[in-house]
Amino acid sequence: MRQVVAGMAHANAQYAFVYVEHSLTDYAYPYLIPPEFLGAVQVGSRVLVRFRRRGSAPAERLGFVSSLASELETPLPTGNEILDVFDNGEPALSPELMQLALWMADYYIAYPIEAIYAVLPSVMRIRPKETVVLREELELLPSDEKIIKTELRRSIMKLLHQEKKLTTLQLQRRLGTKHLRLALSELERGGLIEIKKTFAQKAKPKLKTAYRLAKPLTELELLSVLNSLRRSKKQEEALQKFIQLNKPIAFAEEIGASSATMNALVEKGILACEKVTLSREFLESFSETKKEIRFTDEQAKVVRRLTTAIEQGRFQTFLLHGVTGSGKTWMYIEAIRKALEQGKSAIVLVPEISLTPQTASRFRSHFGNEVRVLHSAMSDGEKFDAWQSLKHGRAKIALGPRSAIFAPLPNLGVVIVDEEHESSYKQCDQSPRYHARDVAVMRARFENAVCILGSATPSVESFYNAHIGKYELLSLTKRADKATMPDIKLIHIARAKKVSPSLSETLYQEICRRLEKNEQVILFQNRRGYASSIYCESCGWIQMCSECSVPMVFHLQENHLRCHYCGKTKEMISHCRRCGSDKLSFRSGGTERVELELQQLFPNERILRMDLDTTSRKDAHAKILREFAEGKARILLGTQMVAKGLDFPNVTLVGALAADIGLALPDFRAGERLYALLLQVAGRAGRAGKKGEVYLQVYNVQSDIFKLLLQQDYVRYFCYETTYRQQTAYPPFSRLVKIGFSGKNQSDVQAAADDFAQMLQALLDAEQFDLLGPAPAVIAKLKGQFRYQILIKQKRGARLTKPVLRQVQLHFRKKWNSTVRLEVDVDPQNMM
Ligand code: ADP
Ligand code: ZN
Ligand code: ZN
Repeated sequence: MRQVVAGMAHANAQYAFVYVEHSLTDYAYPYLIPPEFLGAVQVGSRVLVRFRRRGSAPAERLGFVSSLASELETPLPTGNEILDVFDNGEPALSPELMQLALWMADYYIAYPIEAIYAVLPSVMRIRPKETVVLREELELLPSDEKIIKTELRRSIMKLLHQEKKLTTLQLQRRLGTKHLRLALSELERGGLIEIKKTFAQKAKPKLKTAYRLAKPLTELELLSVLNSLRRSKKQEEALQKFIQLNKPIAFAEEIGASSATMNALVEKGILACEKVTLSREFLESFSETKKEIRFTDEQAKVVRRLTTAIEQGRFQTFLLHGVTGSGKTWMYIEAIRKALEQGKSAIVLVPEISLTPQTASRFRSHFGNEVRVLHSAMSDGEKFDAWQSLKHGRAKIALGPRSAIFAPLPNLGVVIVDEEHESSYKQCDQSPRYHARDVAVMRARFENAVCILGSATPSVESFYNAHIGKYELLSLTKRADKATMPDIKLIHIARAKKVSPSLSETLYQEICRRLEKNEQVILFQNRRGYASSIYCESCGWIQMCSECSVPMVFHLQENHLRCHYCGKTKEMISHCRRCGSDKLSFRSGGTERVELELQQLFPNERILRMDLDTTSRKDAHAKILREFAEGKARILLGTQMVAKGLDFPNVTLVGALAADIGLALPDFRAGERLYALLLQVAGRAGRAGKKGEVYLQVYNVQSDIFKLLLQQDYVRYFCYETTYRQQTAYPPFSRLVKIGFSGKNQSDVQAAADDFAQMLQALLDAEQFDLLGPAPAVIAKLKGQFRYQILIKQKRGARLTKPVLRQVQLHFRKKWNSTVRLEVDVDPQNMM
């Protein structure tokens, strides 16, 4: 490792440019590299610096080396000094990841240090707590004299001999910070001491005992083992049950045996036990039986194209457009197999692990321990472990949600973005507000890798890029394995006869028919809680959240009103706050209400409900899915959570109860999102041999989106959508930047936004840039903050550059910094 990177460093580099923590500037500060650190300091190294800002006292800060130089053009600022080097100079970021971070900082108009922090796991952003211990039974050899050559190293050894164990902080207090890290690293490399990192755990991973076969058994061997257990009935039954479960690992409860019985089997060497974290249990609870498949002609063609590109090892981006159930995941698997064959590594992005457990576990069942799953529920320590294994080549496949795109894999061969249209790939709550799909393309580019974007309903932007030849389009038009596409039908809910407030007679009859045949049903209601809002029938008043400009949602179980944006709750009311009438009514139901209706209609059925409220416990989600998979319930009701990646062969009917939800949102992507979501929900039906049917209950029967959905022809939808986007000059025919302003005082926020818009307008070419607003945001108040926004439409080719924006920001900060917060969002996904 050291040689490689040392070779890349300037032979006679004397200066390092460093991005310093907490310093919100676009610049890297120059530092002289002290002679004793020459060779250790490299691009990507983490260092401790003394940092002095004009007018403030010097402070010790963490920093990241962005580049090296042998001479400086400007004089070195006084008082700045590199005090120490972490990890012996081993780069925290590879040169490619540093390049990627700087690209993000530039493109998304963020500060480089923010981008570097986005790339690194959280424990690398803080100075770790470390304990230094003396290697046990250490006898100093004469050769160790070479290692303990400096005064500092001698002092460290002396203190350790006296006290055996010290934290770095304790050492710092006695010996000062200067050079301490480097000295410790050298002593550790010499084998004299050990440095143990400890992390402040966010949540300790929960461990549970699980059982697996001690070694694989053939059928004959199994029979003889069972035979040998004849005298201990309980153990025999437990083993049989375990085999029936057909899972790599299982818990005692699943098997229905006591832990004493299980341990007896372990003692006999038949089973082995291990402690697993719940997040792993979650993934391994679905396993793909390794079925032998023969690719269809379409599939074989895609595989050939992908593997050839990976062999060539040049940057290229593919858009894999394949209908639901067409075998996209198999294509990814083949691509990864090829990359590994070439000695390369792979990244797989999925929207959110807990929503796509089946997909994630399929990769694990194919590549086993080569896969490191990065899960948002993992503790900091777990994440750091995974990061280390990937960095040092102990595992070659990283799989996870958006931040997995920064997995520190050397020698990247392929980057896969599954469900590339998902808006969760955009980070919107923190700078840099990056889009992981676009970052994926850039990462592949910097690493000469192949990028595969896959979806049944590609984003309009990506399909457009394929259309103009920027990406190569690969298509899978048919479902594999003899399954056919489901039929989609509309029910005009305003006219339909109903059996309950949310359910039409037609859909009800269809559900009954499936239940008679013992098939399964998925019902989709894209709203949780009992009712979306509560309003007064006499005067039309609606109960809004006092902190946000959105209606509060009634939750029956807790009997309260809750804001789904800020989480604030309020006791249920009985009278209108405006006119005092007691005629309060509920508008449109959520999952909680639909569940009650279903329970009344199907008193003998178990209804599984899956939404944010029923899955807040870590393992609740997996449990619901497992029960449905095992047929313990035949009706699964849920929000968006039931739309994604589920593959249950016995599901033959899918119903969307209020398919219009989301259509009227004031966002130019509302139609695109609804189209993708409903097609995805529909894709849950009829995935095996049995034909699937889909019913959408809708109000707007005339809406183009629904007509297009019936045809299930994405390309036709794309043509329709792009015509409209072209007329209105929305992406992909322009690029957007959203600038948001928020603060406690409405008139300040408005004035600040006006101010900003005026300054900006003066600097921009009106031919190239359309400036919309400032206007109150659609959600004009959120968590007590008033919100305004400016939308900048950039004609193709034009780009709001960082220097221009910074110039405006500089003026802005002087006047409004303390009262109004500013947010820059390039390529915004959320317009509200
Ligand atoms: P997608 O990712 O496009 O939704 P999947 O890869 O999940 O599609 O495939 C859908 C189902 O079809 C899976 O159960 C998969 O194993 C099966 N399948 C895909 N291709 C074939 C094939 N060529 N022969 C048999 N089964 C296949
Ligand atoms: Zn009223
Ligand atoms: Zn609120």
